[in-house]
Amino acid sequence: MTSRPNILLVVADDHAVNAVGCYPGAHQVTPQIDRVAVEGMRFDACGCTNSLCAPSRATILTGTYNHRNGVTTLSTEFDNRQPTFPELLRDAGYRTALFGKWHLGHGEPHDPRGFDTWEVLPDQGDYVDPEFLLPDGSSHVRPGYATDLITDLSLDWLDSVSGGGDPWCLLVQHKAPHRPWVPAERHRDLFTDGFKPPRTFFDDYEGRATAAREARMRVARDLNLEDLKEEPPTGLDEEQHARWALDRYLADYLRCVVAVDESVGRLLAHLDASGQADDTVVVYTSDQGFFLGEHGWYDKRFMYRESLESPLLVRYPRLVPPGSTTDALVLNVDFAQTFLELAGVDPLPRMQGRSMVPLLAGEDPVEVGWRTESYYRYWEHLDGSHHVAAHRGIRTHDRKLVHYYGSGCGQPGASEQTTEVEWELFDLVADPEEMRSVYDDPAYADDVRTLTAALDRLATELGDDIPEPTHPPTTKAGRP
Ligand code: CA
Repeated sequence: MTSRPNILLVVADDHAVNAVGCYPGAHQVTPQIDRVAVEGMRFDACGCTNSLCAPSRATILTGTYNHRNGVTTLSTEFDNRQPTFPELLRDAGYRTALFGKWHLGHGEPHDPRGFDTWEVLPDQGDYVDPEFLLPDGSSHVRPGYATDLITDLSLDWLDSVSGGGDPWCLLVQHKAPHRPWVPAERHRDLFTDGFKPPRTFFDDYEGRATAAREARMRVARDLNLEDLKEEPPTGLDEEQHARWALDRYLADYLRCVVAVDESVGRLLAHLDASGQADDTVVVYTSDQGFFLGEHGWYDKRFMYRESLESPLLVRYPRLVPPGSTTDALVLNVDFAQTFLELAGVDPLPRMQGRSMVPLLAGEDPVEVGWRTESYYRYWEHLDGSHHVAAHRGIRTHDRKLVHYYGSGCGQPGASEQTTEVEWELFDLVADPEEMRSVYDDPAYADDVRTLTAALDRLATELGDDIPEPTHPPTTKAGRP
């Protein structure tokens, strides 16, 4: 590393690993995004700490878990008086900007802070002719497609800071490919041939906690007309209808991804043309993962793999070996401290992640003592539309323990309805698709004991004591 690099952070919304072409088995729709992996590092186990838009964004900005930054659910707004990495970079002389989705509340004390300039969508925003909010409190409608407009704003700002001077940090935060998956006109004819359903598409939810069966995010049942854009053909049987809904859903989702890929292509071309590629850290990621029909679902929230894990690709030619990969258990809570170290800025004591710079330099995760277990907590208990029970859990390289701790999280918007306290344990080696909990299997009794203790220890270490989950549990998960 030489002088302080520029930082380009592109955060898509709900972009699944399985829709980023450089990941094994993924839909091949992202040649430009894949270029970041070819020329940099692909993270194969990047988790989030709470698989939901606003909570993840708060974690990325502050380097803290949601019990510390306060954004535990979609209805808990961000208090911008807490420090963020862009603000710390700005204090250190960086030029900073943010364009696109914010989704952490508006007005004071919720607006973006720590940026020289910003322009953001109100809440989720619209795909077509979206309104943008401005720092002076005004707003305006920009005609066009949201992904293109966010890219245009970003390129205009890059033009304004190119040509020397202090380094810059730009956050490009796409709305896409978030529901309701409205593609750009130019992409409406893509993907009309249909898709092969994922192996777990016709999941019957046996062998897992009742939360899986009770969730309302089934492609075949819960997508609405706004999502599907058209009524189903008449005369379909149940399986044919499920396949039709999956094809409709995936076609529009992936069309939205194609526009995001074009955006990344334009940003990379700008860095090439302006001679900044070697001096810029390019990061491509998403705020969480997403189900693309796995387990029959769309959406996220669960601690299952497709929802828990995000794409994370990093290019920085002065540090990162091209074409490299790592299976280190990194988290979105690590991003802030990584950017700060790259910029030579000290992290704050309240931050709870760890700089990924040694990993980016190609060092072995074992030798650098990287974490071998990660903590997760989904707080938004049984929300009205998706109905996923609150849970927490611990994930290691080969095991995942999940604890549905019932109601009592006391969060705004949470249902009063209680659910059973249940546990799941997955053997990620024997069962990578997480189809059968082995929590009640005597062969895994040692794992249950060890991981339950580790989960409590992690929660204590991280200061997550809001509130004490019901414990010890009675289990009904994993019944044959
Ligand atoms: Ca999201």
